[in-house]
Amino acid sequence: MTHTIAGEPVSSPNNGKTLRILQLYPKDMNIYGDWGNTLALARRAHAHGFDVEILDYNPGDTFPDDVDIIIGGGGQDSGQTVIQEDLHAIGAKLKKNAEEGMPMLVICGLYQLFGKEFRTHEGETLKGINIFDAYTVGGNERLIGNIVEDSQEFGTIVGFENHSGLTYLGAGCEPLATVTKGVGNNSTDHHEGARVHNVVGTYLHGSLLPKNPKISDYLIEAAAQRKYGEFTPEKIDDSMVEKARASAMKRPR
Ligand code: GLN
Repeated sequence: MTHTIAGEPVSSPNNGKTLRILQLYPKDMNIYGDWGNTLALARRAHAHGFDVEILDYNPGDTFPDDVDIIIGGGGQDSGQTVIQEDLHAIGAKLKKNAEEGMPMLVICGLYQLFGKEFRTHEGETLKGINIFDAYTVGGNERLIGNIVEDSQEFGTIVGFENHSGLTYLGAGCEPLATVTKGVGNNSTDHHEGARVHNVVGTYLHGSLLPKNPKISDYLIEAAAQRKYGEFTPEKIDDSMVEKARASAMKRPR
């Protein structure tokens, strides 16, 4: 399914360019406001002058060749099981796209499955698609709460985590950030999320992107550079975002 998001009027002129955003598995992997990431990204791209098309991809659909950004959300272990077979069917394509520089953002459940494997608390092994050199083990405890972290690339990132899986990174990818409030990937190393090529994996729901527009700008810039060979950002008034961020950062864990 393709939907076009009617943007609010923005001060920037339309630049005549279009970005196509693919949301992976919105039926099964889309919780705690993850759909808001796609909406926020579309709005942000619109504010930078792009037309935006949003495509949904669910199990059994034909995977489109001409997308520019891929977004995936979280889900219960059961949702991860539902999409697993289909994810493997498109896994090689996703990995090739990632290696060729397509920007992607995957949250929580799909972050786990973009790694090598997820061994659930029940002892089931869900194989991942190997984009991140990382594996996840189901823990005994749910890690729930507001989270704040520092990233060299994106500054302070703020969001909300809710997972029991504990993720451990290998040498083939970098963490996204170091946690200053909350838990992150696991209870030991204070790392959160993962970065490889132009792929960002994170446990942060929230939604993430409305509160962290630097990550949206990064995804949009990478997509525009790849597709059009250039990106000319518009100046966007982020004063409301700054207020939302400050308030989110003050919330107790
Ligand atoms: N089922 C996974 C876990 O609890 C992912 C949860 C999520 O996507 N929020 O670790």
